[in-house]
Amino acid sequence: MIARRQTRQVTLTGASGSVKVGGDAPISVQSMTITKTADVEGTLAQIYALAAAGADIVRCTCNEPEAAEGLAAIVPRSPVPIVADIHFQYKLALAALDAGVACLRLNPGNIRKPAQIKLVAEEAKARGVPIRIGVNAGSLDPEMYTKYGSATPEALVESAQRELAYFEEVDFHDVKISVKASNVPLMIEAYRALAEVTDHPLHLGVTEAGPPPAGLVKATAGIATLLAEGIGDTIRYSLTADPVEEARAGRQLLEAMGLRTRKTVDLIACPSCGRAEVDVIRVAKEAEAALADRKLPIQVAVMGCVVNGPGEARTADLGIAAGNGKGHLFVKGQMIRVVPEADMVAALVEEAERLVAEGAEARIAAADVGAVEEAERDRQVLLAEQGDDPNAVGQRVELIRKELT
Ligand code: SF4
Repeated sequence: MIARRQTRQVTLTGASGSVKVGGDAPISVQSMTITKTADVEGTLAQIYALAAAGADIVRCTCNEPEAAEGLAAIVPRSPVPIVADIHFQYKLALAALDAGVACLRLNPGNIRKPAQIKLVAEEAKARGVPIRIGVNAGSLDPEMYTKYGSATPEALVESAQRELAYFEEVDFHDVKISVKASNVPLMIEAYRALAEVTDHPLHLGVTEAGPPPAGLVKATAGIATLLAEGIGDTIRYSLTADPVEEARAGRQLLEAMGLRTRKTVDLIACPSCGRAEVDVIRVAKEAEAALADRKLPIQVAVMGCVVNGPGEARTADLGIAAGNGKGHLFVKGQMIRVVPEADMVAALVEEAERLVAEGAEARIAAADVGAVEEAERDRQVLLAEQGDDPNAVGQRVELIRKELT
């Protein structure tokens, strides 16, 4: 179990409910739309897709007056609270507040006049709207660059603290903070240092992580390291990809780390080997795509052979193993059905839905009586064809022994 750092709590109030960040609230997943915010229907379609993929909060840019007007139409129809992303123009922050957004993100690196910052904070306070201080190594306050010589962890933290001090001058405390960098060690050090000096909730992210898979690896390295240390109250993957991938990745990370209750399928698959009776990579990808957005909180296994698959994946809620031109479906390691190989993925999806609706005992009780025998027959056929060592382990062991004697 990961012990989370104690933080204050802020509340983002949206049209269809509120999301709490910090304190004992579940760690939330954020993503950002890549549409023009002025395109209300296009942006809303993306927000719905993000929410379906696991985003609890969505940020939209508010970079022009038309974007602020778009937010006024988007906010009341959004399924999740909307954050307005503000750079350079404090007046757009005020306009976004008028549009009814649930939260603002201000970049201290490019809105620097104290009077403007305090005015925005006062207006946010009057409306009960929190603000994220979004420090970014790439757009750090020039004064911090001058003082520290580069975007060091100390420079990022001091920039956040300065902004926080302006907010405190006007008695505004509903604040989340981020200190993002694209350099993973820098980002980790900055958040660790920040966590030492503030109890405000922290929004984690590796900025400009890039396209997957490298972007996913970088973002996960930074975010997961901090989460494992108990640091972080809300997260965002910044990927050069469809933002739905960001939302899915965020959700999957939190579920994998036991920080959120599982809502989606945990797909496991064998790595394939000499015994594989099917293209495991293709079937696993097809199954992953077919199950991705279904709210099925179970573990599903795709296994390459019926000889070892059901046994290796016996702890999965549901699995399918290939063999002798067929797919062998099993629940908690027990055979329940045999389907033609071409129907493997469709049958897996259907069975996953039924398993969640009816429960494992009911599905095992409803098993096809011949399935167990058929699976065993197929297993024996494969063992007869391939022997018990299709990966030539015995030959390799012999070779090793010869080398070492
Ligand atoms: S033995 Fe079967 S289930 Fe195990 S890795 Fe090989 S193909 Fe996959």
